[in-house]
Amino acid sequence: MKANKSQKKLGKIFIISGPSGSGKTTLLTGLIKDKKIGKLLVKSCSVTTRSPRTGEKNAREYFFVGKAGFDRLLKAKKILEWTRYLGYYYGTPKGPLESQLAAGKNVGLCLDLKGARTLKKLYPNNAVTVFVLPPSLDALKSRIVSRCSHANKSETASRIRLARREILAVSRFDYCVLNQNLTVALGELKEIFLREINA
Ligand code: 5GP
Repeated sequence: MKANKSQKKLGKIFIISGPSGSGKTTLLTGLIKDKKIGKLLVKSCSVTTRSPRTGEKNAREYFFVGKAGFDRLLKAKKILEWTRYLGYYYGTPKGPLESQLAAGKNVGLCLDLKGARTLKKLYPNNAVTVFVLPPSLDALKSRIVSRCSHANKSETASRIRLARREILAVSRFDYCVLNQNLTVALGELKEIFLREINA
């Protein structure tokens, strides 16, 4: 039977993971800002129970909700995958991701290790996982400290402790990008993206 011409090829899921402070969000944003890639890739907006950081906007970085709101979404099966990260909940909204993929759009997400593993299992044929490695633990520490300056010291320390463990998961990913220099790392990520969407 001939394939229906109007039936679109499912888009690819482009998952960027790595420890807190590795620069994965900056890299995904950079990828989407690229003129050519921006037309081919949309960013999924997760739901979280953590509070917005300075400069973060609701429905742009995250949908910020309370724990009760998050539970309601879970109960209504509107969350495709979720995680508890340092006491806060984060989840990928199911509807938007599924409709974007069905429309043939490629979707980019920044997820923790658990989320990357779950989505790769759910979409083994069209999920690509990239692990972003920081140049060193010291560099990572200073990025976490500067970003969490408003947060309490114990959250900063927990993020650093967790980052040390997360780095060990690098071998389970399809690709690894070393973020020593943002321009170079972004260039590598663009190459990976273009290769994968044409594969
Ligand atoms: P942050 O608080 O630094 O924005 O995010 C903490 C961690 O949660 C990061 O590793 C981030 O990539 C991850 N994260 C953000 N949204 C989601 C999501 O929807 N699902 C999962 N599994 N992880 C997420």
